[in-house]
Amino acid sequence: MKKYNRNLGCIECDAAIDIRVFNYSIDNYFHPLCRRCQSWFSEILEYSTATDYAIELYFALKDRGVPARLEKSDGFKSIDIALPHAKVNIEVDGMHHSYNGKQAMSDLKRTLHSFKKGYSTLRIPNALTEYDLEQTADLITDYLIVSRRQNRKRYY
Ligand SMILES: [Zn+2]
Repeated sequence: MKKYNRNLGCIECDAAIDIRVFNYSIDNYFHPLCRRCQSWFSEILEYSTATDYAIELYFALKDRGVPARLEKSDGFKSIDIALPHAKVNIEVDGMHHSYNGKQAMSDLKRTLHSFKKGYSTLRIPNALTEYDLEQTADLITDYLIVSRRQNRKRYY
């Protein structure tokens, strides 16, 4: 899948953006964002705990038309990438999530906490987004399509 081959729209909100805003945004934020979403993204970069891995995966999913939300709070801790439509939470994890037992236990408790509310959790290691971001995003998109379909079956 090629990047930036869609219309000149904001990747975050789909608002039309002109070529000057587009070029400015690519140069400064590496993604096509309208002026309003550039401010939003600046705040994410400055104040949020979102890692570059989570941000890159987030935009790769947005590129695929996935209605993802970055850094959504679940009342317990913030979720890296939330997909309320598919009832899936994505956590993009660094190494300490696998070698630190205390962290791993806290992750498992959170997975259960979300599952009780009907949300499954996908844990994506940072290394996977580095290894092949495009294929990772394609496979997650498949997972979301299936999850959405199964949720429909369950509730309707
Ligand atoms: Zn926008």
